Amino acid sequence: MDKAVEILREIVRIPSFVGNGQDESAMADAVREMLRDLGGRWKVTEQAVEGRRRNVFVSNSPDPKLLFLAHMDTVPPSAAWSRDPFAAEIEGGRLYGLGAVDMKAGLAAIVDALTERKDTAVPTAALFYVGEEYDFCGMRRFIAESRLAPETVIVPEPTDLKVYQGCRAVIGGVMTVIGRTGHSAMSRGTVNAITAGFRALSALERRLAEERDDRLGTSSLNVAGSAGGVRQDGRIAIVENMVPDFARFNFSVRASTPSAADLSLITKVVGRELEGCGAKLESCDCLGTGVMKSTGRFAGFPEFERGDESAFGYTDSEMLVSAFGGNPVVCGPGPMGMAHCPDEYVDLDEFGRMTDELRKML
Ligand SMILES: [Zn+2]
Repeated sequence: MDKAVEILREIVRIPSFVGNGQDESAMADAVREMLRDLGGRWKVTEQAVEGRRRNVFVSNSPDPKLLFLAHMDTVPPSAAWSRDPFAAEIEGGRLYGLGAVDMKAGLAAIVDALTERKDTAVPTAALFYVGEEYDFCGMRRFIAESRLAPETVIVPEPTDLKVYQGCRAVIGGVMTVIGRTGHSAMSRGTVNAITAGFRALSALERRLAEERDDRLGTSSLNVAGSAGGVRQDGRIAIVENMVPDFARFNFSVRASTPSAADLSLITKVVGRELEGCGAKLESCDCLGTGVMKSTGRFAGFPEFERGDESAFGYTDSEMLVSAFGGNPVVCGPGPMGMAHCPDEYVDLDEFGRMTDELRKML
């Protein structure tokens, strides 16, 4: 069996979801062990994140120009699996397992390339980190305690081998609107909190549509949920002949420009629209730090197609690129659609093509 496939099988067999007494620490042990024989100028260091949970960093230079990123954690196994999520079964050109595609295949391809090309002259580093599927604790800790200036940052998350060089920022918000209630037949002086809230969100949507980028597309709003009615004895009642004085909206924004990712734009547009009706924006948070966009064209992966960043999710590599710079390249074996799905698998043909490309870079 191919050496890279063997590495992948070994790490798929190690549970690395977080919860139920599990975490990524056995994965960190295994990765460390696999990197032990690199020798030469390579140095492996560990960074404690939380209890036994830790990041593993390996580098052959104090100033690496090529940086690989891979998260070691997976989502928890769901009851919908029909296979053993930790058996790493191979069948019909697929390797099945929890995290096989997201992103143990990418991680295995990095380990394979480092061990195959340990004498490379390219100043290289790789960060294997915890908590990507949960609260980004590993990435946050790494950024807080490290200083790097990479030129290229390779992130082999599943993309069906398409090359993505950026991602939009994600902002989550909760808006609470307090209106003024009254009889719906005598509505003068009342403020309908539900319709006021929708008007504010419509204004926000129109404003966001003006925030566009040639690669990342148009900024967009998703109103994810809403609830409202009349406040009565500490609960919210729905009364047909009364004007609702309370509404809450949960929304998210995908921001494709730095100004759209700036929370003050949201508060300003929403605030202006709600002025005079006692409404307030309860909370508004950026998931990461902002928009990620490459500053140059990546010359590697000549055989792979370019992906459409305007229809691409958020990756926490954005936080690292925003902090340290570098050209981001998100590209890895798929199928992309199998991430977080029961009976997750990676396509072994795409995995093989990825390992070939990573070996060529070193
Ligand atoms: Zn992932």
